[in-house]
Amino acid sequence: MSEGHKTASGLRWKEFHWQDCIVRITKKKVKNANLRIRPEEPQVIRISIPHAMTYDAGMKLLEQPRIRRWIENYQKKVNEPPAQPRMQNADRMEHVAYYRKRLRELLPGLIRKWEPVLGVRCNKVSIRDTRSQWGSCSIQTRNISISVWLGAFPEECVEYVVVHELTHLLESGHNERFYGLLDQYYPNWRSCREQLKHGVT
Ligand SMILES: [Zn+2]
Repeated sequence: MSEGHKTASGLRWKEFHWQDCIVRITKKKVKNANLRIRPEEPQVIRISIPHAMTYDAGMKLLEQPRIRRWIENYQKKVNEPPAQPRMQNADRMEHVAYYRKRLRELLPGLIRKWEPVLGVRCNKVSIRDTRSQWGSCSIQTRNISISVWLGAFPEECVEYVVVHELTHLLESGHNERFYGLLDQYYPNWRSCREQLKHGVT
């Protein structure tokens, strides 16, 4: 858990880590707890709870199967890479193999390049056949995982995802500091993010 932060409206939230997500719990004048995710920050789960409720009880909400399913479906939908033309199985495997090979060639150099720049150490990078997100970073283990489908994009986009995930080792949240660091180290990140969103290859 991190320090409480002040939101624009002066409310405080507390930040927790849950799976690959950041959970921000704000105590508010609400009757019932409610949960939101913004499409631009699908890894940030925002929960408002009544003042009488504890933060622990807020985190417990995430154990409810119904809520879990809702979060998973939401993140899948938002992060889905642009639809690929329907591929026959063999075709698909060929693509995956090609992307994987390309990423295996690109990633080690990018990690080596960016670790000293950002002053972080990443433990392990794995490539996964996942469509739910381009990359993720576990702050506890310092492991980074990259979607094999990122291999379909220009190198600058691959680099952006690497810098993004490594930056999480400095700042876990998608907050002002995080985007400030991206602006400082990889000013091109917005255009890369757009490409990843719209599938311009
Ligand atoms: Zn992130």
